[in-house]
Amino acid sequence: MRFVNIFIWLTLALILARLAAELWLASLNRRHVLAHAGEIPPAFRDIIDGPTYKKSVAYTLAKARFGDIENICSTAVLLIVLFSGVLPWLFNLFSNEFGVTVWAMTAYLLAIGSGMSLLDLPFDWVSQFRLEEKFGFNTTTQKIWWLDRLKGLLLALVLGYPLLVFVLKIVEWTGAWWWLWAWVVLLVFQFLMLVLAPVLIMPLFNKFTPLPDGSLREQLLALARRTQFRAQSIQLMDGSKRSRHSNAFFAGFGRFRKIVLFDTLVQQLSGSELEAVLAHEIGHYKKRHILKMMAFSAASSLAGLFLLSVLARQDWFYRAFGFVPGNVAPALLLFGLLAGTITFWLSPFIHWRSRRFEYQADAFAAQVMNEAQPLIGALRKLNEKNLSNLMPHPFYSGFYYSHPTLLEREQALAGKA
Ligand code: ZN
Repeated sequence: MRFVNIFIWLTLALILARLAAELWLASLNRRHVLAHAGEIPPAFRDIIDGPTYKKSVAYTLAKARFGDIENICSTAVLLIVLFSGVLPWLFNLFSNEFGVTVWAMTAYLLAIGSGMSLLDLPFDWVSQFRLEEKFGFNTTTQKIWWLDRLKGLLLALVLGYPLLVFVLKIVEWTGAWWWLWAWVVLLVFQFLMLVLAPVLIMPLFNKFTPLPDGSLREQLLALARRTQFRAQSIQLMDGSKRSRHSNAFFAGFGRFRKIVLFDTLVQQLSGSELEAVLAHEIGHYKKRHILKMMAFSAASSLAGLFLLSVLARQDWFYRAFGFVPGNVAPALLLFGLLAGTITFWLSPFIHWRSRRFEYQADAFAAQVMNEAQPLIGALRKLNEKNLSNLMPHPFYSGFYYSHPTLLEREQALAGKA
């Protein structure tokens, strides 16, 4: 019993430590941004005009305020869900009604998951229709937004239900080594998603059309040839249906790979700037960043599943949250709810690694373009159009940013050009 209590306090401390760190980093960043809000820092004078800089500061501060409220609320919800006894109460409800079959346990897990995601809805809604709207980014209608949520929920149920049933069955079938088998199943599932998502899932949300014939298409195909990057096609995605933010990515795998450009990106950038963005993405591929990320995520999920299998054998893990040990489903649930409390502290390392990859992809793009200027032009425009925070506090960007800041990237490119 003593260990149960220690574990409860430890969990509480970790959850509150995370919230404290989030609020502290946000306030550090807010003060840093405010300190530079008065006039455009010298490094950005040629890049951005006064009104746009002011707007980017206001956008950063508005997002920070909203983020604080969201973090406080989600921590409160997590604490209530974990410690109010609602989870074991629902567990008993499900097992009394439907028995402790794998099917019933999966329904229990998905019911909690759906319930928790419903609690996010008001925040998502305000973020899209108040915050993004205010700064001119929102192009989504209420109808598209609600349909997106509905489709997302249905997809999560349609894909999640069989997957979870299978994982729980594996626990029954394979005994002590279930975590290894579950890991294999998850890897196969992820690989299937990689292949099938561009064909079956992404078209449910967006329209994809081949980039029309013309000089832009020729220019991009020539780049793909020059870098020996095989792709099935270049597709245009109607990202403008939801937002004025812009992006580019690859979808699919191997020879089924497609290059996808947001229509917003094509509107914002010139031909050679788009070529530079694509060269940067090809750089990620050529430097094997995508493979390394996948290997890292596979290794992390193996470690996570092993840890889960160890916790699932400890009586105190169940008792700390009011469950009676004996069924693995609550362990899965608790682990899912608590994982973010631990992974939060790993994010600086993960982001540091990701920023290193970005520098390498930038260098690759400058090299295949024979000059850094088109990429710098593209980065400047993207930062301006997206009202990116140009002056994040170094601790803040070090912790959260998966990409280096504009200034850091320009400096690195200048060093290599
Ligand atoms: Zn990148």
